[in-house]
Amino acid sequence: MSTTEGMSPVLHLRGPVLLAPDRELAEAWVVDGRIHHERPEPPTGVEVHVLDGYVVPGLADLHCHLGITDGGGGATLETARQQALTNRDTGVLLIRDAGSIIDNSPLQSQKDLPRLIRCGRHLARTRRYLPGYADEVEPEDLPAAVTRQAQRGDGWVKLVGDWIDRGLGDLSPCWDAEDFHAAARAAHRAGARITTHTFDENTLPLALEAGFDCLEHATGLTHETIARTAAAGIPVVTTLVNVGEFETYADQGERKFPDYAAHMRRLRAGRYDRTRDAHDAGIQLLAGTDAGGVLGHGIIHDELDELARAGLDATAILDAAAWAPRRFLGAPGLEDGAPADLLIVSRDPRQDHTALRELDHVVLGGRAVA
Ligand SMILES: [Zn+2]
Repeated sequence: MSTTEGMSPVLHLRGPVLLAPDRELAEAWVVDGRIHHERPEPPTGVEVHVLDGYVVPGLADLHCHLGITDGGGGATLETARQQALTNRDTGVLLIRDAGSIIDNSPLQSQKDLPRLIRCGRHLARTRRYLPGYADEVEPEDLPAAVTRQAQRGDGWVKLVGDWIDRGLGDLSPCWDAEDFHAAARAAHRAGARITTHTFDENTLPLALEAGFDCLEHATGLTHETIARTAAAGIPVVTTLVNVGEFETYADQGERKFPDYAAHMRRLRAGRYDRTRDAHDAGIQLLAGTDAGGVLGHGIIHDELDELARAGLDATAILDAAAWAPRRFLGAPGLEDGAPADLLIVSRDPRQDHTALRELDHVVLGGRAVA
């Protein structure tokens, strides 16, 4: 019996191979699941498949929820698997799960699924989030809850920083300054990074002051907090498809909470200008869909279209969706020796981001999966 039996074919990627916004290789190879920049000596008896086209790292979705049903409940693991496959087939090969109701960690050992980095469960203030989603706690229990989620997840904790306050009739931070500090300290002490769901203007100074590592949605960014976020070097996960849905939330809240409805409409109306201002100020934008629960899966390309509407050029969009998130999460890209998680497209995605919708090949761990 030959020792090469069952080995994946060697792939000869005829490129160009897009290593970074300003760095490319003419060609590369994939042997035994890994990228090689130099022509390897292929093991005897292994076929070589030639693949032509622009090679980019698998896309990343920095804000996705695997394991939540359309109605907002906990899904079965099989449903979570199908959600991961739906994302994979659009070219998403790296997912940061931004909070799941179920323990979706068993998906991490399934080799045909995107790489998964989990935040554990959302942490929220009691009755200040979508019912049933979060581990809901009061301030005195927040640090212990952060530590617990840091131990459950893969180096990330997610805190719901603001939500509608029904007494106030508007968005407001769910925690005070000391709570944000205590949450960040607990996460960092446990060796994790912490991010926050935030819509409201007033939450951003609190999260920035406390040393949060990332911001989700960040619809409340102002000139002042854009400058502070840029200076702190903290990325913003965009979720513009979801922000487009704020009209629905405004409608639903209109009668009982007119101030909230007006606030949500203002945040929605400013979404493209604010996103472009953040980009222009040097904030690293990272593509996130917020798929799962309210929005369906498989919408990364809609999010990239939204970034284009905000005024980002194709290279900046590709950076937000592929290179930058991998750097930020400590996940390899297309460097020599990295796992071959990559896409091949026939048009240059640095010229037109919609080239990424037309995938010729999706290669995960060196195997063509779609
Ligand atoms: Zn979310």
